[in-house]
Amino acid sequence: MLEGLQAEGFRACVVGGAVRDLLLGVDPKDFDVATDAEPEDVVDVFGRKARLIGRRFRIAHVRFGREIIEVSTFRADPGEDSDSVDTRELDDSGRVLRDNVFGSIAEDARRRDFAINGLYYDGADDCVYDYVGGMADVDARRLRLIGDPQVRYREDPVRMLRAVRIAAKLDLTIDPAARPPAALVPLLADVPAARMFEEVLKLLMTSAAPKVYAALRDYGLLDPLFDQTAAVLDSPAGAASEALIGKAIANTAARIDAGKPVTPAFIFAALLWPAVRERAAVLEGEGMPPMPALASAQAQVVSHQVQRVAIPKRFGVPMREIWQLQPRFHKRRGKQPNRLLTHPRFRAAYDFLLLRAEVGEVDDELAEWWTAIQNDPSTPAPASAGPRK
Ligand code: ATP
Ligand code: MG
Repeated sequence: MLEGLQAEGFRACVVGGAVRDLLLGVDPKDFDVATDAEPEDVVDVFGRKARLIGRRFRIAHVRFGREIIEVSTFRADPGEDSDSVDTRELDDSGRVLRDNVFGSIAEDARRRDFAINGLYYDGADDCVYDYVGGMADVDARRLRLIGDPQVRYREDPVRMLRAVRIAAKLDLTIDPAARPPAALVPLLADVPAARMFEEVLKLLMTSAAPKVYAALRDYGLLDPLFDQTAAVLDSPAGAASEALIGKAIANTAARIDAGKPVTPAFIFAALLWPAVRERAAVLEGEGMPPMPALASAQAQVVSHQVQRVAIPKRFGVPMREIWQLQPRFHKRRGKQPNRLLTHPRFRAAYDFLLLRAEVGEVDDELAEWWTAIQNDPSTPAPASAGPRK
Protein backbone atom coordinates (compact mmCIF):
# COMPACT_ATOMS: atom_id res chain seq x y z
CA MET A 1 0.00 0.00 0.00
CA LEU A 2 2.61 2.54 1.15
CA GLU A 3 5.03 1.04 -1.41
CA GLY A 4 2.76 1.97 -4.31
CA LEU A 5 3.03 5.64 -3.47
CA GLN A 6 6.72 5.43 -2.56
CA ALA A 7 7.52 3.87 -5.93
CA GLU A 8 6.21 7.01 -7.58
CA GLY A 9 8.39 9.20 -5.37
CA PHE A 10 5.76 10.21 -2.85
CA ARG A 11 6.03 10.09 0.91
CA ALA A 12 3.43 7.81 2.46
CA CYS A 13 2.79 7.15 6.15
CA VAL A 14 0.32 5.30 8.30
CA VAL A 15 -1.17 7.88 10.62
CA GLY A 16 -3.54 8.36 13.52
CA GLY A 17 -5.48 5.65 15.30
CA ALA A 18 -3.60 2.71 13.78
CA VAL A 19 -0.13 3.95 14.81
CA ARG A 20 -1.46 4.83 18.25
CA ASP A 21 -3.13 1.45 18.74
CA LEU A 22 -0.08 -0.50 17.56
CA LEU A 23 2.21 1.43 19.91
CA LEU A 24 -0.18 0.75 22.78
CA GLY A 25 -0.44 -2.94 21.93
CA VAL A 26 -3.98 -2.93 20.56
CA ASP A 27 -5.11 -4.33 17.21
CA PRO A 28 -6.04 -1.39 14.97
CA LYS A 29 -9.47 -1.67 13.39
CA ASP A 30 -8.51 0.25 10.28
CA PHE A 31 -5.56 2.00 8.69
CA ASP A 32 -5.37 5.58 7.51
CA VAL A 33 -2.61 6.78 5.23
CA ALA A 34 -1.29 10.33 4.89
CA THR A 35 0.81 11.33 1.92
CA ASP A 36 2.26 14.29 0.05
CA ALA A 37 0.60 12.96 -3.10
CA GLU A 38 -2.45 14.99 -4.04
CA PRO A 39 -5.76 13.17 -4.44
CA GLU A 40 -5.42 13.03 -8.23
CA ASP A 41 -1.93 11.56 -7.85
CA VAL A 42 -3.34 8.86 -5.61
CA VAL A 43 -5.86 7.96 -8.29
CA ASP A 44 -3.04 7.85 -10.85
CA VAL A 45 -1.06 5.47 -8.66
CA PHE A 46 -3.90 3.10 -7.75
CA GLY A 47 -6.08 3.41 -10.82
CA ARG A 48 -9.45 1.72 -10.52
CA LYS A 49 -8.81 0.68 -6.95
CA ALA A 50 -9.02 4.35 -5.90
CA ARG A 51 -12.04 6.57 -5.62
CA LEU A 52 -12.18 10.23 -4.64
CA ILE A 53 -14.67 11.11 -1.96
CA GLY A 54 -15.59 14.14 0.15
CA ARG A 55 -16.33 17.64 -1.00
CA ARG A 56 -14.85 19.74 1.76
CA PHE A 57 -11.79 17.58 2.17
CA ARG A 58 -11.13 15.49 -0.86
CA ILE A 59 -9.60 12.21 0.11
CA ALA A 60 -9.08 8.95 -1.74
CA HIS A 61 -10.48 5.60 -0.73
CA VAL A 62 -8.25 2.82 -1.93
CA ARG A 63 -9.48 -0.74 -2.02
CA PHE A 64 -6.92 -3.15 -0.73
CA GLY A 65 -8.15 -6.71 -0.65
CA ARG A 66 -11.26 -6.58 1.49
CA GLU A 67 -10.24 -3.38 3.20
CA ILE A 68 -10.77 0.25 2.24
CA ILE A 69 -7.87 2.45 3.20
CA GLU A 70 -8.39 6.17 3.54
CA VAL A 71 -5.59 8.11 1.89
CA SER A 72 -5.45 11.82 2.65
CA THR A 73 -3.02 14.44 1.49
CA PHE A 74 -0.96 16.26 4.13
CA ARG A 75 -3.09 19.20 4.99
CA ALA A 76 -2.67 22.36 7.03
CA ASP A 77 -5.36 23.62 9.35
CA PRO A 78 -7.27 26.26 7.40
CA GLY A 79 -8.19 27.94 10.71
CA GLU A 80 -7.51 31.67 10.68
CA ASP A 81 -5.10 31.81 13.56
CA SER A 82 -2.86 29.01 12.41
CA ASP A 83 0.31 29.59 10.45
CA SER A 84 -1.27 27.87 7.48
CA VAL A 85 -2.70 31.19 6.34
CA ASP A 86 0.84 32.14 5.47
CA THR A 87 1.37 28.79 3.86
CA ARG A 88 -1.64 29.39 1.74
CA GLU A 89 -0.19 32.54 0.27
CA LEU A 90 3.52 31.91 0.41
CA ASP A 91 4.29 28.26 0.09
CA ASP A 92 4.27 26.82 -3.40
CA SER A 93 3.23 23.41 -2.13
CA GLY A 94 0.42 24.81 0.02
CA ARG A 95 -2.06 25.04 -2.80
CA VAL A 96 -5.57 26.19 -1.95
CA LEU A 97 -8.14 23.96 -3.47
CA ARG A 98 -11.72 24.40 -2.35
CA ASP A 99 -11.25 23.87 1.37
CA ASN A 100 -8.14 21.82 0.94
CA VAL A 101 -5.03 23.55 2.11
CA PHE A 102 -2.28 21.13 1.38
CA GLY A 103 0.61 21.42 3.77
CA SER A 104 3.66 19.81 5.23
CA ILE A 105 3.62 16.67 7.32
CA ALA A 106 4.31 18.77 10.44
CA GLU A 107 1.27 20.94 9.69
CA ASP A 108 -0.78 17.84 9.08
CA ALA A 109 0.23 16.63 12.53
CA ARG A 110 -0.75 19.87 14.24
CA ARG A 111 -4.30 19.91 12.91
CA ARG A 112 -5.04 16.53 14.51
CA ASP A 113 -6.81 16.33 17.83
CA PHE A 114 -4.62 14.49 20.34
CA ALA A 115 -0.86 14.12 20.41
CA ILE A 116 -1.14 10.32 20.36
CA ASN A 117 -3.21 10.67 17.17
CA GLY A 118 -0.53 12.76 15.48
CA LEU A 119 2.11 10.08 14.96
CA TYR A 120 3.29 8.97 11.48
CA TYR A 121 4.79 5.63 10.63
CA ASP A 122 6.89 5.95 7.49
CA GLY A 123 7.32 2.61 5.76
CA ALA A 124 10.30 3.87 3.72
CA ASP A 125 12.62 4.05 6.74
CA ASP A 126 10.53 2.13 9.27
CA CYS A 127 10.46 5.16 11.59
CA VAL A 128 7.73 6.85 13.59
CA TYR A 129 7.73 10.63 13.09
CA ASP A 130 6.55 12.73 15.98
CA TYR A 131 5.95 16.48 15.58
CA VAL A 132 3.60 16.93 18.53
CA GLY A 133 5.06 15.01 21.47
CA GLY A 134 2.89 11.98 20.88
CA MET A 135 5.54 9.41 21.80
CA ALA A 136 5.97 10.85 25.29
CA ASP A 137 2.20 10.57 25.75
CA VAL A 138 2.18 6.97 24.52
CA ASP A 139 4.87 6.17 27.10
CA ALA A 140 2.92 7.97 29.83
CA ARG A 141 -0.37 6.51 28.58
CA ARG A 142 -1.74 10.02 28.58
CA LEU A 143 -4.26 11.84 26.39
CA ARG A 144 -3.31 15.41 25.65
CA LEU A 145 -4.67 17.83 23.08
CA ILE A 146 -2.39 19.37 20.51
CA GLY A 147 -2.39 23.12 21.17
CA ASP A 148 -4.67 25.11 23.45
CA PRO A 149 -7.46 22.86 24.77
CA GLN A 150 -10.00 25.68 24.88
CA VAL A 151 -9.31 26.60 21.26
CA ARG A 152 -9.24 23.02 20.03
CA TYR A 153 -12.46 22.03 21.81
CA ARG A 154 -14.23 25.15 20.58
CA GLU A 155 -13.11 24.44 17.01
CA ASP A 156 -14.73 21.03 17.16
CA PRO A 157 -16.68 20.14 20.32
CA VAL A 158 -16.91 16.49 19.21
CA ARG A 159 -13.28 16.22 20.33
CA MET A 160 -14.62 16.19 23.90
CA LEU A 161 -16.45 12.97 23.09
CA ARG A 162 -13.43 11.55 21.29
CA ALA A 163 -11.35 12.26 24.39
CA VAL A 164 -13.49 10.15 26.71
CA ARG A 165 -13.91 7.41 24.11
CA ILE A 166 -10.24 7.03 23.26
CA ALA A 167 -9.17 7.30 26.92
CA ALA A 168 -11.67 4.59 27.91
CA LYS A 169 -10.79 2.31 25.01
CA LEU A 170 -7.05 2.46 25.67
CA ASP A 171 -7.02 2.99 29.41
CA LEU A 172 -5.35 6.37 29.18
CA THR A 173 -5.32 9.18 31.70
CA ILE A 174 -6.86 12.34 30.36
CA ASP A 175 -4.42 15.17 30.97
CA PRO A 176 -6.06 17.64 33.42
CA ALA A 177 -5.94 20.39 30.77
CA ALA A 178 -7.73 18.12 28.28
CA ARG A 179 -10.66 17.26 30.55
CA PRO A 180 -13.81 18.46 28.82
CA PRO A 181 -14.43 21.91 30.36
CA ALA A 182 -17.95 22.31 31.75
CA ALA A 183 -18.26 25.69 30.02
CA LEU A 184 -17.71 24.12 26.58
CA VAL A 185 -19.85 21.00 27.00
CA PRO A 186 -23.06 22.81 25.92
CA LEU A 187 -21.45 23.49 22.50
CA LEU A 188 -22.19 19.85 21.66
CA ALA A 189 -25.86 20.72 21.40
CA ASP A 190 -25.12 22.52 18.12
CA VAL A 191 -23.31 19.67 16.40
CA PRO A 192 -25.38 18.29 13.50
CA ALA A 193 -27.59 15.43 14.69
CA ALA A 194 -26.38 13.06 11.97
CA ARG A 195 -22.73 13.40 13.01
CA MET A 196 -23.80 12.99 16.63
CA PHE A 197 -25.49 9.70 15.82
CA GLU A 198 -22.23 8.34 14.38
CA GLU A 199 -20.37 9.47 17.49
CA VAL A 200 -22.91 7.97 19.87
CA LEU A 201 -22.53 4.61 18.13
CA LYS A 202 -18.76 4.80 18.55
CA LEU A 203 -19.21 5.74 22.20
CA LEU A 204 -21.66 3.06 23.22
CA MET A 205 -21.38 0.15 20.79
CA THR A 206 -18.02 -1.00 22.15
CA SER A 207 -16.80 -3.20 24.93
CA ALA A 208 -15.48 -0.09 26.70
CA ALA A 209 -18.98 1.44 26.74
CA PRO A 210 -19.48 1.14 30.53
CA LYS A 211 -16.33 3.19 31.11
CA VAL A 212 -17.29 5.62 28.39
CA TYR A 213 -20.75 6.07 29.85
CA ALA A 214 -19.36 6.72 33.34
CA ALA A 215 -17.07 9.39 31.89
CA LEU A 216 -19.93 10.96 29.92
CA ARG A 217 -21.87 11.28 33.17
CA ASP A 218 -18.85 12.61 35.09
CA TYR A 219 -18.21 15.38 32.59
CA GLY A 220 -21.86 16.23 32.04
CA LEU A 221 -21.50 15.17 28.40
CA LEU A 222 -24.77 13.24 28.45
CA ASP A 223 -26.69 16.48 28.97
CA PRO A 224 -26.26 18.00 25.52
CA LEU A 225 -26.71 14.59 23.82
CA PHE A 226 -29.70 13.22 25.72
CA ASP A 227 -31.04 16.22 27.58
CA GLN A 228 -34.38 14.63 28.47
CA THR A 229 -32.64 11.56 29.86
CA ALA A 230 -30.16 13.63 31.85
CA ALA A 231 -33.04 15.61 33.38
CA VAL A 232 -34.68 12.42 34.67
CA LEU A 233 -31.38 10.94 35.88
CA ASP A 234 -30.59 14.07 37.84
CA SER A 235 -34.03 14.13 39.47
CA PRO A 236 -34.54 12.61 42.95
CA ALA A 237 -36.04 9.41 41.47
CA GLY A 238 -33.25 9.00 38.93
CA ALA A 239 -31.35 6.11 40.52
CA ALA A 240 -33.47 3.29 39.05
CA SER A 241 -33.22 4.83 35.58
CA GLU A 242 -29.47 5.20 35.95
CA ALA A 243 -29.31 1.52 36.86
CA LEU A 244 -31.45 0.52 33.87
CA ILE A 245 -29.23 2.41 31.44
CA GLY A 246 -26.08 1.10 33.10
CA LYS A 247 -27.31 -2.48 32.78
CA ALA A 248 -28.32 -2.04 29.13
CA ILE A 249 -24.88 -0.68 28.34
CA ALA A 250 -23.13 -3.42 30.30
CA ASN A 251 -25.23 -6.08 28.52
CA THR A 252 -24.32 -4.72 25.12
CA ALA A 253 -20.64 -4.54 26.02
CA ALA A 254 -20.68 -8.14 27.28
CA ARG A 255 -22.40 -9.30 24.08
CA ILE A 256 -19.77 -7.53 21.97
CA ASP A 257 -17.03 -9.23 24.00
CA ALA A 258 -18.74 -12.58 23.42
CA GLY A 259 -19.06 -11.92 19.67
CA LYS A 260 -22.86 -11.86 19.84
CA PRO A 261 -24.96 -9.54 17.69
CA VAL A 262 -25.99 -6.20 19.17
CA THR A 263 -28.28 -3.42 18.05
CA PRO A 264 -28.22 0.28 18.80
CA ALA A 265 -32.04 0.08 19.00
CA PHE A 266 -31.72 -1.58 22.41
CA ILE A 267 -29.33 1.06 23.79
CA PHE A 268 -31.47 3.90 22.46
CA ALA A 269 -34.57 2.23 23.92
CA ALA A 270 -32.89 2.12 27.34
CA LEU A 271 -31.46 5.64 27.12
CA LEU A 272 -34.79 7.23 26.29
CA TRP A 273 -37.08 4.98 28.31
CA PRO A 274 -36.80 7.02 31.54
CA ALA A 275 -37.98 10.13 29.69
CA VAL A 276 -40.73 8.22 27.87
CA ARG A 277 -41.99 6.66 31.08
CA GLU A 278 -42.02 9.92 32.93
CA ARG A 279 -43.81 11.72 30.11
CA ALA A 280 -46.38 8.91 29.87
CA ALA A 281 -47.02 9.17 33.61
CA VAL A 282 -47.71 12.90 33.25
CA LEU A 283 -50.14 12.27 30.39
CA GLU A 284 -51.88 9.53 32.36
CA GLY A 285 -52.14 11.92 35.28
CA GLU A 286 -53.99 14.25 32.93
CA GLY A 287 -56.50 11.48 32.28
CA MET A 288 -55.17 9.84 29.12
CA PRO A 289 -55.53 6.01 29.05
CA PRO A 290 -52.21 4.10 29.40
CA MET A 291 -51.68 2.89 25.82
CA PRO A 292 -52.31 6.23 24.09
CA ALA A 293 -50.30 7.95 26.83
CA LEU A 294 -47.34 5.69 26.07
CA ALA A 295 -47.70 6.28 22.34
CA SER A 296 -47.84 10.08 22.67
CA ALA A 297 -45.01 10.13 25.16
CA GLN A 298 -42.84 8.18 22.71
CA ALA A 299 -43.66 10.54 19.88
CA GLN A 300 -42.88 13.61 21.96
CA VAL A 301 -39.63 12.31 23.40
CA VAL A 302 -38.35 11.02 20.07
CA SER A 303 -39.17 14.15 18.10
CA HIS A 304 -37.25 16.23 20.63
CA GLN A 305 -34.37 13.76 20.78
CA VAL A 306 -33.69 13.58 17.05
CA GLN A 307 -32.87 17.26 17.02
CA ARG A 308 -29.78 16.39 19.09
CA VAL A 309 -28.90 12.87 17.99
CA ALA A 310 -30.43 11.49 14.81
CA ILE A 311 -31.96 8.02 15.09
CA PRO A 312 -32.22 6.40 11.64
CA LYS A 313 -35.45 4.55 10.94
CA ARG A 314 -33.79 1.16 10.93
CA PHE A 315 -33.12 1.66 14.65
CA GLY A 316 -35.97 4.01 15.53
CA VAL A 317 -38.68 1.56 14.45
CA PRO A 318 -37.42 -1.39 16.53
CA MET A 319 -36.75 0.97 19.45
CA ARG A 320 -40.40 2.01 19.50
CA GLU A 321 -41.50 -1.60 19.19
CA ILE A 322 -39.47 -2.54 22.25
CA TRP A 323 -41.35 0.14 24.20
CA GLN A 324 -44.72 -0.57 22.71
CA LEU A 325 -44.53 -4.24 23.65
CA GLN A 326 -43.85 -3.59 27.33
CA PRO A 327 -47.50 -3.21 28.43
CA ARG A 328 -48.35 -6.42 26.62
CA PHE A 329 -46.18 -8.44 28.99
CA HIS A 330 -48.78 -7.80 31.65
CA LYS A 331 -51.46 -9.61 29.66
CA ARG A 332 -50.99 -13.27 30.38
CA ARG A 333 -54.42 -14.71 29.60
CA GLY A 334 -55.89 -16.45 26.61
CA LYS A 335 -54.15 -16.07 23.26
CA GLN A 336 -52.31 -12.87 24.15
CA PRO A 337 -49.04 -14.48 25.34
CA ASN A 338 -48.76 -16.58 22.20
CA ARG A 339 -49.20 -13.59 19.98
CA LEU A 340 -46.50 -11.74 21.87
CA LEU A 341 -44.15 -14.75 21.76
CA THR A 342 -44.30 -14.83 17.98
CA HIS A 343 -43.84 -11.09 17.54
CA PRO A 344 -40.62 -10.44 15.57
CA ARG A 345 -39.43 -8.05 18.27
CA PHE A 346 -40.28 -10.37 21.17
CA ARG A 347 -36.67 -11.20 22.01
CA ALA A 348 -35.47 -7.60 22.33
CA ALA A 349 -38.61 -6.58 24.20
CA TYR A 350 -38.20 -9.52 26.59
CA ASP A 351 -34.55 -8.62 27.22
CA PHE A 352 -35.77 -5.13 27.98
CA LEU A 353 -38.39 -6.50 30.38
CA LEU A 354 -35.61 -8.37 32.21
CA LEU A 355 -33.72 -5.11 32.67
CA ARG A 356 -36.83 -3.45 34.04
CA ALA A 357 -37.29 -6.32 36.49
CA GLU A 358 -33.67 -6.12 37.58
CA VAL A 359 -34.07 -2.49 38.57
CA GLY A 360 -37.39 -3.11 40.29
CA GLU A 361 -39.60 -1.43 37.71
CA VAL A 362 -41.71 -4.57 37.29
CA ASP A 363 -42.07 -7.64 39.52
CA ASP A 364 -39.46 -10.37 39.17
CA GLU A 365 -42.36 -12.81 39.06
CA LEU A 366 -43.51 -11.32 35.75
CA ALA A 367 -40.08 -11.65 34.14
CA GLU A 368 -39.70 -15.20 35.48
CA TRP A 369 -43.08 -16.17 34.04
CA TRP A 370 -42.04 -14.99 30.58
CA THR A 371 -38.78 -16.86 30.92
CA ALA A 372 -40.68 -20.03 31.88
CA ILE A 373 -43.31 -19.87 29.15
CA GLN A 374 -40.69 -19.75 26.43
CA ASN A 375 -39.51 -23.21 27.49
CA ASP A 376 -42.90 -24.56 28.51
CA PRO A 377 -45.85 -23.04 26.64
CA SER A 378 -48.28 -24.67 29.09
CA THR A 379 -47.10 -22.48 31.98
CA PRO A 380 -50.37 -21.30 33.52
CA ALA A 381 -51.10 -17.65 34.06
CA PRO A 382 -51.20 -16.96 37.78
CA ALA A 383 -54.53 -15.99 39.33
CA SER A 384 -53.26 -12.45 39.73
CA ALA A 385 -52.07 -12.15 36.12
CA GLY A 386 -52.51 -8.50 35.52
CA PRO A 387 -55.26 -6.47 33.94
CA ARG A 388 -57.96 -8.39 32.07
CA LYS A 389 -58.38 -5.83 29.40
P1 ATP B 1 -10.66 4.91 16.16
O1 ATP B 1 -10.59 4.65 14.70
O2 ATP B 1 -9.98 3.94 17.03
O3 ATP B 1 -12.04 5.18 16.60
P2 ATP B 1 -9.16 7.21 15.42
O4 ATP B 1 -8.31 8.13 16.23
O5 ATP B 1 -8.50 6.43 14.36
O6 ATP B 1 -9.89 6.27 16.47
P3 ATP B 1 -10.77 8.30 13.34
O7 ATP B 1 -12.09 8.94 13.42
O8 ATP B 1 -10.58 7.06 12.56
O9 ATP B 1 -10.34 8.06 14.85
O10 ATP B 1 -9.76 9.44 12.85
C1 ATP B 1 -8.48 9.17 12.31
C2 ATP B 1 -7.51 10.28 12.66
O11 ATP B 1 -7.98 11.54 12.17
C3 ATP B 1 -7.34 10.51 14.16
O12 ATP B 1 -6.40 9.64 14.73
C4 ATP B 1 -6.90 11.96 14.21
O13 ATP B 1 -5.53 12.08 13.87
C5 ATP B 1 -7.71 12.58 13.09
N1 ATP B 1 -9.00 13.12 13.58
C6 ATP B 1 -10.19 12.47 13.64
N2 ATP B 1 -11.16 13.25 14.13
C7 ATP B 1 -10.59 14.44 14.39
C8 ATP B 1 -11.08 15.68 14.90
N3 ATP B 1 -12.35 15.82 15.26
N4 ATP B 1 -10.20 16.69 15.01
C9 ATP B 1 -8.91 16.54 14.65
N5 ATP B 1 -8.39 15.42 14.17
C10 ATP B 1 -9.21 14.37 14.04
MG1 MG C 1 -9.51 5.16 12.86
